[in-house]
Amino acid sequence: MIKENLENVRKNINDAIARSSRDAEDVTLIAVSKTKPVEMIKEAYDLGIRDFGENKVQEITDKYPRLPDDIKWHLIGHLQTNKVKYIIDKVCMIHSVDSYKLAEEISRQAVKHNVTADILIEVNVAGEESKFGVLPEDAAKLCEMISILPGIHIRGLMTVAPYVEDAEENRPVFCALRQLFVDIGAKNIDNVDMECLSMGMSGDYTVAIEEGATFVRVGTNIFGQREYGNRVER
Ligand SMILES: *Cc1c(COP(=O)(O)O)cnc(C)c1O
Repeated sequence: MIKENLENVRKNINDAIARSSRDAEDVTLIAVSKTKPVEMIKEAYDLGIRDFGENKVQEITDKYPRLPDDIKWHLIGHLQTNKVKYIIDKVCMIHSVDSYKLAEEISRQAVKHNVTADILIEVNVAGEESKFGVLPEDAAKLCEMISILPGIHIRGLMTVAPYVEDAEENRPVFCALRQLFVDIGAKNIDNVDMECLSMGMSGDYTVAIEEGATFVRVGTNIFGQREYGNRVER
């Protein structure tokens, strides 16, 4: 099942890349493996996937030692300050930085572990109350503040778009994040490089690619629905 799903997702990605006249190497598929067992991750790995996304520190630390060490782990979920120390040397990128306080702890742990932490700033583009992320109007200022911290490198922006029936409804959200990305890039802030745009999930990744995504985070369409107890969660 994963094989067919992945072929499908890859085809959709390639079609979206072609439609928007982009280069295939500019878009990376992150397979979101949260709640899924190591066996399924191994299957995707054997089909060529190297980038995996998880939203819980505990799941990364559980799975990390049981899987090949050339996997690039992306932390895509909300990160609590007191848990940074467990993943700082295990993840290739933290997509969900939305406060100075969190960035300070990432910086402190990165220096301690002698690594540079690549991070994205999470932006709540649609201003949904239930969502994490800095508001668009506060993003540039947050980048400036974080940019002077040691051991941390801002590589771009991330958003979790609203859940919608029709992916087209999220086009303005992706377009707005892309615009913010260009605007912040144009400020030429030292140690801030606007290279990565992490947006698009199972329901809307092709639209996100058309609007400039460099990372799409796809879970359900690769691994199937996630079940938590008897509850199905998207
Ligand atoms: C779960 C999750 C995804 C993947 O969602 P799907 O709809 O299953 O593709 C992407 N990004 C974040 C931040 C997530 O938490």
